[in-house]
Amino acid sequence: MISIDHAIRTIKKHTHVLAQETIKPIEKANGYILSQTIYAPIDMPPFRQSAMDGYALRLHDALSYTLIGEVQAGDPKAFSLKKGEAVRIFTGAPVPDSANAVIMQERVKGNRLKIEIEGDVNEGDNVRPLGEQIKAGEIALQKGAQLNPAGIGYLLSLGIGHVSVYKKPSIAIVSTGNELVDPGTELVHGKIYESNSKMLLSALYSLKFYDVTLERVKDDFDETRKSLKQLISNNDMVIITGGISVGDYDFVGRALNELQVETLFYKVNQKPGKPLLYGKKEHTSIFALPGNPAAALTCFYLYVYIALSGMTNYTSDELPRVKSKSLSEFEKKADRPQFLKARYKNGEVEILDGQNSSMLQSFALANALVFMPEDLKIIKVGDSVETIVLPV
Ligand code: AMP
Ligand code: MG
Repeated sequence: MISIDHAIRTIKKHTHVLAQETIKPIEKANGYILSQTIYAPIDMPPFRQSAMDGYALRLHDALSYTLIGEVQAGDPKAFSLKKGEAVRIFTGAPVPDSANAVIMQERVKGNRLKIEIEGDVNEGDNVRPLGEQIKAGEIALQKGAQLNPAGIGYLLSLGIGHVSVYKKPSIAIVSTGNELVDPGTELVHGKIYESNSKMLLSALYSLKFYDVTLERVKDDFDETRKSLKQLISNNDMVIITGGISVGDYDFVGRALNELQVETLFYKVNQKPGKPLLYGKKEHTSIFALPGNPAAALTCFYLYVYIALSGMTNYTSDELPRVKSKSLSEFEKKADRPQFLKARYKNGEVEILDGQNSSMLQSFALANALVFMPEDLKIIKVGDSVETIVLPV
């Protein structure tokens, strides 16, 4: 049995970033990590732009200006203004080179030939300078940045329609157990509805990993081995739930052994999730998570998340940990370090009822895990506790 820290270090050490790929069109790249720095191919804005609906002026010392024309957004028309001349202009339209300020229309009176302005106008007012946001050749986004919708919009505004990113892993989730049936089928005595595979699938989806296949195997050695063999050779990661304990019908460990998966650790000194296995076969990472649903999900967030981050080169490879003030009292029965389902808000955390690893009810209300190290036996109201914030 190894420590939590040792398990985390082992995963980090054996996780390598996947190859790069180009994603086109760029709108499909949300959530991906850039594998190359992107330089701006153009100035943005690409011309001096009006920030207002109003009038572009070539300033002089009087308040009245002669109107000589109009520039709409998208208009390529060029005007040459003399001092004291103005053109009608609209937001986003190119400001003539000879104009040195734009005044908003609410501060102007006049007709189609002449206008009078109110108040002070200074050079540069309401004109977005050429390249104000970024100049051609400057770094638009660094290698390692995670694309979000704003990043995609930003790159599109620079005329960029595809990006080089780190590939995302193909993942297989395997649930094991003779007792498992699908929701929608009759629940005969002794059976339970299968929940782990789709729970983990939705956790993967919310982290924007979509290349996932699901498989179910019975508690049968040959079936387990056959199925795992094929999934390991076809995927970057295989996540198994159940069948990894010491029962007579837990065949996962034996099957992985037979398939020459290198076991990097088995059993972690923690509650829940002690029977956790991590291994590798060539480039494929293998996690065998406990069958108990709350233990499986806890191990996913604490360990599988790290491997997923490492494979895609996320900069933050563990979930954020914060100190928060406990609103609850909790006495730890186990000698092992323990993760507790909890609800965190504004620096305070409530430890929820129903911590059993077979129960998901409290996890459904949780957005955090409180960590109790081995030597911490009791948490009192007001104590500062280590809190791991879960992704939504
Ligand atoms: P195991 O680790 O296979 O001994 O399973 C431990 C417990 O988790 C048992 O009560 C199983 O019935 C339950 N379990 C295992 N796999 C699943 C699953 N995919 N969905 C829901 N419960 C499961
Ligand atoms: Mg089982």
